[in-house]
Amino acid sequence: KIYEKIEKEDKQINSFITLSKELAKKQAEEIDDKIKNGESLGKLAGIPIAIKDNICTDGIKTTCASKMLEDFIPPYDATVIKKLKAEDAIIIGKVNMDEFAMGSSCENSYFGPTKNPVDISRVPGGSSGGSSASVAAKFVPISLGSDTGGSIRQPAGFCGVTGLKPTYGKVSRFGLIAFGSSLDQIGPITRSIDDAALCLEVIQGHDKLDNTSAKLKYDTYLDKLNNVDIQNMKIAVAKEFIKKGLNEEIKNNFLETIEKFKSLGAKVEYISMPITEEGLSAYYIISSAEASSNLARFDGIRYGYRTKTYEDVNDIMVNSRTEAFGKEVKRRIMLGTYALSSGYYDAYYNRALKLKKKIKDQYKEIFEKYDLILSPISPVLPFKIGEKTSDPLEMYLADIYTININLAGVPAISIPSGKNKDGLPIGIQLIGKHFDEEKILRAAKAFE
Ligand code: GLN
Repeated sequence: KIYEKIEKEDKQINSFITLSKELAKKQAEEIDDKIKNGESLGKLAGIPIAIKDNICTDGIKTTCASKMLEDFIPPYDATVIKKLKAEDAIIIGKVNMDEFAMGSSCENSYFGPTKNPVDISRVPGGSSGGSSASVAAKFVPISLGSDTGGSIRQPAGFCGVTGLKPTYGKVSRFGLIAFGSSLDQIGPITRSIDDAALCLEVIQGHDKLDNTSAKLKYDTYLDKLNNVDIQNMKIAVAKEFIKKGLNEEIKNNFLETIEKFKSLGAKVEYISMPITEEGLSAYYIISSAEASSNLARFDGIRYGYRTKTYEDVNDIMVNSRTEAFGKEVKRRIMLGTYALSSGYYDAYYNRALKLKKKIKDQYKEIFEKYDLILSPISPVLPFKIGEKTSDPLEMYLADIYTININLAGVPAISIPSGKNKDGLPIGIQLIGKHFDEEKILRAAKAFE
């Protein structure tokens, strides 16, 4: 039934790259067997889940929406996939994204752009645009995305659904094809806070295969979302958030959201976060530097695309990369290689790292006094397909509200907060201190 719906409706939306019908059927049969044998079922028994196509799935193509990995079938599952399967979730397919997760609109995909189900002339956000669209189109209740600088939260906001970026280290990155390793996190995109909480419960946890994975006690979240009360919760709003360039309708919605939190009993106060805009420069240097190194493995030799025209090994590498990487990926590799080259390393990369540390300290200081920070997700509404593709810098600037969170490594959730006059979704973001996903989820639930 699900596949029937997807095959019919996704022709227009283009959220899926691969449908894993055979394997899904096998998984469903295994669940049936368990029921017949009277075995207990997992927390996600029978729930269909769509996976962003940069998360490795055993036996299912994992393309990163790139010609480079068009035919790549991983021989293993990412840790998050193992965990989903252990709770009897059904992996139904792989969803579209910006190539190697670089972008904010899902237009940088080798397989064509995904459309926003709310208005198909508009982008679904990115890079996890296929994830957010597949949830908004009601193909699946849960999808996994990845977030390096906003890629779970911004597309969730654009499609009117919920997206949670966990604390860096909370969810294993093993099997996630790396973009910016020090920033990447996997998280759920869902239609309800409860589903986000449940999915996080399943995918979290220490993993010895990811050496940045945190050793923590196992947390439950769903049971903490009954009758939530946010009386006396202290929420900070930075005055820098309400700035020139913030769309008027989003601004008004944000101000209404502040009032709604107040009426729920929270204490909302304005603060100052002087280092807000600079985060953008630091992010685009650090993430591109890490990407240039991470993507060096795609050399046309070990796996992935190989050029047909070559005379020597050097040609294989140069031609394969030239032919198989898209424009944005090449731009990032060049940016990153430049920032890391000797002579420029201190001027760019090291300075960006210092700024990253300052941003982290800024959050730390705020969270000594406040429980959460409330902010917009994006300064712009979901824009028309093609509207921003000619100006990469303009696209980068729209990441202003999401990137600092990754630089600091803190968790954040994006939840719907209303619509503009044309019915386009608007979302807001709740940011918490390291490993305090519980508080974020509780405040989101009170607001829902
Ligand atoms: N839009 C940002 C970028 O292009 C974030 C991407 C992401 O979080 N993967 O880098």
